[in-house]
Parts: sequence; C-alpha cells; structure tokens
Amino acid sequence: MTFKKIDGKNIAAELRMSIKKLVDARLTAGLSKPGLAVILVGENPASKVYVRNKCNACDEVGFYSLSKKLAYGTTESELLTLIDDLNNDPAINGILVQLPLPDHINEEKIIEAIDVLKDVDGFHPYNIGRLALRMPILRSCTPKGIMTLLRSTNIPLEGKEAVVIGASNIVGRPVSLELLMARCTVTTCHSRTINVKEHVKRADIIIAAVGIPAFVKGDWIKPGAIVIDVGINRLDTGKLAGDVDYNAACNNASWITPVPGGVGPMTIASLLENTLQAAELQNQ
Ligand code: NAD
Repeated sequence: MTFKKIDGKNIAAELRMSIKKLVDARLTAGLSKPGLAVILVGENPASKVYVRNKCNACDEVGFYSLSKKLAYGTTESELLTLIDDLNNDPAINGILVQLPLPDHINEEKIIEAIDVLKDVDGFHPYNIGRLALRMPILRSCTPKGIMTLLRSTNIPLEGKEAVVIGASNIVGRPVSLELLMARCTVTTCHSRTINVKEHVKRADIIIAAVGIPAFVKGDWIKPGAIVIDVGINRLDTGKLAGDVDYNAACNNASWITPVPGGVGPMTIASLLENTLQAAELQNQ
C-alpha cells in the first residue's frame, strides 16, 4: 500500500498565512489586532518553550500578545484576580493558562474563571458542553487541528469507523466528540479497555493519543486506514517519537501524520484561529 504523509507543518503554515491576511483585513477595516494573553506560572522548561512558541506565532500573524510570567508561589487567588482583569481587558480577546499548574492551584477553578468567549484553549466546560451538543463555539485546539488534518485528505468522514486511543480531557474526549459530530462511528479506548488492538484493527480512522512510544503496531492498522499520531514522546536518545510505530504503520496506512511535523504545529495554528474567532465574536 502506498501511503501519503499528512504534512501538518505545511498545513499549519498555510493556515497562519490565511490568518495573517484576515488580520490585515481587520486592520484595514479599522478593527483592532486580535489579542492573546498567555499566562505561565512557574518555571516548567517545556511550558516555557510552548509559551514562547505561542507568542512567536502571534507575532507572525500580526496579533497582539501579552505574556504573563508568574512565580511558582503565585496563589490561586492572585491568579484568579489576573484572569478577572484580563476578562475585562478589551485589548485581550483570548486567555490561555499554560498547563500544568503548580499543585497548590486548582486547574478546574482557573479554567472555569476564564470568560467563555475568551477561552481560546476550548477547555471550559461551557465550550466542551457546546461541542457535545453539536453547537461548538471555541473548540479545543489539538482536536480542532486533528479535524483540519483529516479534512485535508478530502476523504469523506461520514460513516467511517473511528477509534480514538486515549480519553483525556484535552485530546481523547474532545476529539471523540469532534469525530461524532463529523458523523463517524466512534470508539474511545483508554487504559481500562480490554484488547485495544482488536478495536484498532477495524478502524478506518485511528487517533493515537496515549503518550507511549510506538504503542500502535503496524499490523494493527487496517489496510487503507488514516492514522493520526498525537503522541509526543521524548526518547532516551533525545529524539521525539509518536504513539504509532511509524515505519511499520506506513505499510498499511493510506494517510499518516509524522512526529514531529504532524499534529504538533496544528495545535498552535488552531489556537490562532480560535483567537481570531474570539476577536470576531467580541467585536459583534
Ligand atoms: P494523558 O496522559 O492525559 O492521557 C492518556 C490517555 O491514554 C488516558 O486516557 C489513558 O487512559 C490512555 N491510556 C494509557 N495507557 C493506555 C493503554 N495501555 N491502552 C489504552 N489507553 C491507554 O495524555 P494526553 O494529554 O491526552 O496526551 C497524549 C499524548 O499526546 C502525549 O504523548 C502528549 O504529549 C501528546 N499531546 C500532543 C499534543 C500536540 O499538540 N501534538 C497536544 C496534547 C498532547
């Protein structure tokens, strides 16, 4: 079977270019730059890189970005006060709190404090609930990026058997809801699922979001299946690997995302899309 690579890097670059054009059009029409506030609490090195990448992406498309770096010891109530200020700041259309937060801060409380129309990560129960009811507004970034990648293949999704491996709040669950909304027949596997392999073997679409390198073996993949690998795993060698045994999977897949260069770049591109959408919603 000859496979085609779904080039997330390229698709994300095209998306950023089209967002930039829309921002230019806003400015010409006398509207403001979309504004994104990114809050980082503490010194987690991976989080610092993510925050920097998000702010750089904002610069590239002409957004205003505000990076708020807070000390590890920041209290929950100090963080809530900052969110309240940003909720009321008209220059800020999107608020993103980089997770994970330190243990002394309740993540749920923080996410729920964000104005639902500024929740550009799409993690607020209101936005997840809207997605579950097939009337999404702001959609979680990684699942939204995955749907953009699936649609880039031009293969109709309706009626397809989709198997999602992973049921986290940020990837597995919302992507299962996205696929259901796209009229797939969806199975969500998780750590207590019996015989994941048997589920995967009948899938036309496989979404792997487990966090275990090469968890999905090549011979689990039905010939012609579309494979989306969400996993980002750092190996002892320092290299990044996905949740799918990529080389073996290429023998059976019709389309497949690489790691890196697949889902990863789409997450930030979707964040930019959401921030622009939030600006449009707030300017109505
Ligand atoms: P998580 O740890 O929160 O969730 C993992 C899920 O996998 C859980 O639902 C768990 O039940 C399930 N699981 C664990 N072992 C399993 C097993 N043996 N069989 C079946 N299911 C099993 O992780 P997450 O935040 O959802 O992230 C998953 C992966 O995706 C990680 O590698 C993460 O780094 C990556 N990720 C990538 C992006 C991106 O932008 N590309 C974004 C978010 C997460």
